Amino acid sequence: MGESLRLLRSRGFHPVAARTPRRVFMGSLPCTKGPVPVKLTIEDWNFLEYPRISLAERPAFLPALMPHVDVLGHLCYFAPGAVTLDSYDPAIALAQCLDQATVMLDRIAADPEYRIDDIQSEFPAHWEYGQLSLPWTVFLGDIQPQATTAKYFIMRQGERKHALVSCDPDEAHRLARTLGAAVTASRYRCWLLQTTVPPRVPAQMPRTVKELFAWVRSWDCTLYAGIQKALGEKDYLQQTYAAFAVKTLVGWLGFGFDLDQLKRLGYANSPKRYRNYLHNAGGAQHLFRMALREVGSRFVHNRNLSYKDLYNQRVTVVGCGAIGSFVAAALVRLGAGTGKLGRLKLIDPDDLGPENLGRHVLGYPALMQTKAGALTDELLRQFPHSAIEAHACSAFDHSQLFAAELIVDATGEESVSEYLNRLRLQRGTPTPLLHVWIRGNGESVQALWADSEGGACYRCLLVPNARVHRQERFPLLKTEPLRRTDGCRAYTPYAVSAPMHAAALASDMVCAWLQGDPSPRFRTRSQENADVYKVKSQNLTRMAGCPACARP
Ligand SMILES: [Zn+2]
Repeated sequence: MGESLRLLRSRGFHPVAARTPRRVFMGSLPCTKGPVPVKLTIEDWNFLEYPRISLAERPAFLPALMPHVDVLGHLCYFAPGAVTLDSYDPAIALAQCLDQATVMLDRIAADPEYRIDDIQSEFPAHWEYGQLSLPWTVFLGDIQPQATTAKYFIMRQGERKHALVSCDPDEAHRLARTLGAAVTASRYRCWLLQTTVPPRVPAQMPRTVKELFAWVRSWDCTLYAGIQKALGEKDYLQQTYAAFAVKTLVGWLGFGFDLDQLKRLGYANSPKRYRNYLHNAGGAQHLFRMALREVGSRFVHNRNLSYKDLYNQRVTVVGCGAIGSFVAAALVRLGAGTGKLGRLKLIDPDDLGPENLGRHVLGYPALMQTKAGALTDELLRQFPHSAIEAHACSAFDHSQLFAAELIVDATGEESVSEYLNRLRLQRGTPTPLLHVWIRGNGESVQALWADSEGGACYRCLLVPNARVHRQERFPLLKTEPLRRTDGCRAYTPYAVSAPMHAAALASDMVCAWLQGDPSPRFRTRSQENADVYKVKSQNLTRMAGCPACARP
C-alpha cells in the first residue's frame, strides 16, 4: 500500500478520514481545460471493483449531462469487466484509473459529438438513473408492433411486487405461474409509441410534464403528435396516472405522471381541456421516468444472437435421453417453440430410469416418468411462452414426423438413425435431419447434417464392402470402447460431459443453419487427450454404392 500512497501523494491527492478498509482521497485530475476536483474511494484493494472516482464539483467547462457520469457524480471510466487491474501492483492500477478518468473527461469537455453519441447509445441508463430517487422497475412483455396500448398487471410474490405491461393476459398468467406469483389485471393502461429517430440528448433529462413536451417536440414531431393525440382522447382520464412506453432504437423509455383528481373528473368528457391544462399550469407536474425491463420471449431469445432465432420454426427432437435432453434444452433457448407457428416436439417412448439420471438434464423429480413428458414439463416450467409437445411414442409411429423445418436425431443409436435416414430418403422430404451421436466412451462427438441438397446420407458414413462388416468411411476410435452390462442390458459408460459436448455440437450446427449454411455438414470433435484418429470436418459427397441413397 505504501507504493500506492506515494503515487497518490505525487499526484497531489491527500487522504481524508474514512472507515477502514475504505480509503478516501481528495485531489484533482489534470484535464486540459483545467483541474477537475475529484474524490477517490478505494474499498476493494483486490480491484474486483474499480476504485470509485466522483466529481467533487463540476467546473464550468463540463456540461451538466455527461455520458459515463451518473447523477451522483460517479465516473464510469472503465466499463465493468473491461480492464483487469493488477492487484499485485496497486500503484500502477490506480495510475491507470486516474489517467483513464482524465482522458474521458477531456473528451467530454473537448468533443460535443462524443458526448452526444455516448449518451445516445446509453440513453435508457441516463433516463432511468439520472434522477435522484431510484426508478420503479416495470416489466415489459412481448409488444406487438401495431399495439397502441397495453395493460398493467400486478404480480405479487410474497412481499415482492412487480408490475408487468403486456398486451396479452395469457402472457401475464404464464409468467406469473412460472414465478409462483399471484397476478391481477389492473384497470390501468400504458400507451405505446415508437420512433426510429435516435433520442435527442437534452441539456438535462426532463423532470416535469412541460419539460417532457418541449424535449419530445425537439426530438421527433411524430412522436410528439402521438403523445398529444393520446392526451386528447378520453381514456387516460379514467386513471389517476398516465403512463407511456416508447420503443426507440436504443431500447424502451417509459414515463408517467399523476393526474389531478378534481380536474380529471371535471374534464372527463373534454380531454382536450385537460391536455391544455398540462401545457399550462399542469405542466409543472413531476415526471416519473420508469425503468422498463423487457421480459418477453422475443427479447429473451434474440438478445444474444446476431442472426434470427428459431422463432416460428417447427423443430422435432427424436430421442430425449442424455443427448436429446441437452439438445432440447439448448433449442428452447434458441427460440424453438416461439411464434404463432413455432413448435418444439419431443419424441421418446421410454421412461426415465435411475440409470439415466447421472447424465440427463432431468433429475430425481422425473424418475419413472416418460422422458418426453417430463422433459416437456421441465422446459415449459423454465420457458412458459414456448409451445412444446411431448410424444411418448416411437418416432416411427408418429405420422407427422416430417412436418417440421428441422428434425434432430438425438437417439445416439445407429439402428434408429439408419431407419430415420431411410424414412427421410423414402419420403423425399426437404426437411433437414441433423444426426448427432457420441463415440466410444465420450472420446468424440459427431454430427451429420443431411438434407435434400445432394450430400451424404447417414449410411454414406459406411463403406460398402462384402468382406468387412460395417466398415467405417472415416475410422476414428483406435481402441474398442469399454462396455458394461447391467442385468441383460449392455451400455457404454461415458460422463455427462459427452452428451453436453454432443448437444453443443448440434447447437452450433443449428446456429450455422440459422445463419444460412450448416457447413461443414459432417463434423467431429474430440477430447484433447483422446486416443483417436483425426477426422476432418467437411461436406461429404455420397458414398458410391450406398444402399440407402444410391440412385438405382
Ligand atoms: Zn447414402
